[in-house]
Amino acid sequence: MKDKIKVLIELQNCDNRIQSLLTRKKKGPSRIQALSDEMEAVSKGFQEDEERLDTIKSERRSLEQEVEDLDAKIQKGNEKLSNIKSNKEYSAALKEIEGYKKKKALLEDQLIQQMEELELVKERCRANSEQLETLQQQFEKDKKEVQDELVEIEKELTALEKERTAIARKADPQLLRHYELVRERIGSHAVSPVIGGVCKTCNMGIPPQMFNELMKCLELTSCPHCNRIIYWGDDAQFQELTNP
Ligand SMILES: [Zn+2]
Repeated sequence: MKDKIKVLIELQNCDNRIQSLLTRKKKGPSRIQALSDEMEAVSKGFQEDEERLDTIKSERRSLEQEVEDLDAKIQKGNEKLSNIKSNKEYSAALKEIEGYKKKKALLEDQLIQQMEELELVKERCRANSEQLETLQQQFEKDKKEVQDELVEIEKELTALEKERTAIARKADPQLLRHYELVRERIGSHAVSPVIGGVCKTCNMGIPPQMFNELMKCLELTSCPHCNRIIYWGDDAQFQELTNP
């Protein structure tokens, strides 16, 4: 039984290496995706700001036009003043001019506010465009790295799959099926050492009688708590495999 369990431990070592490669294989593309999402967000903000710039500019043109119109009205009003004879008419015309001037002052305040916003948005556009460029460079760099890494991982995976097939061929078919079932159900580590009467994977103690049997290693034993295939971890032969 010891030799059969040894094959399972070898198989588990191989499977764990495959598993960690598969995890690494997923990590790269998700790093790239995160960068791409960030770029998209910055680029969207950039686009919105550019649109806002256009809006501000066209609003400004119409404000300036209004100011010009008011200037013309004020000038016309002033010219009219010199021809007015009656006091009543004069003060009415004066009041009208005052009204235009007040309106003009309001528009000029608006123009100043707009100018400030324009500078702010322009500055944001500049910063965004710089950030976008940095992200773009990072993206290209990471993409290349991830691609190279993927090629490496694929190579290692192919080698490991071959190794696994060879190990599985050595395994006892019934034990192999059992191993696959447990691994499928638990996800990883279908085989666990028991040291000092404690299953080292689920950290629960096993009954002393079971532990005695386990040390003899005459039959397949499963942890009564986590159902993993267990072996005596202090056995020198097993230790060779788990601490190569
Ligand atoms: Zn256990």
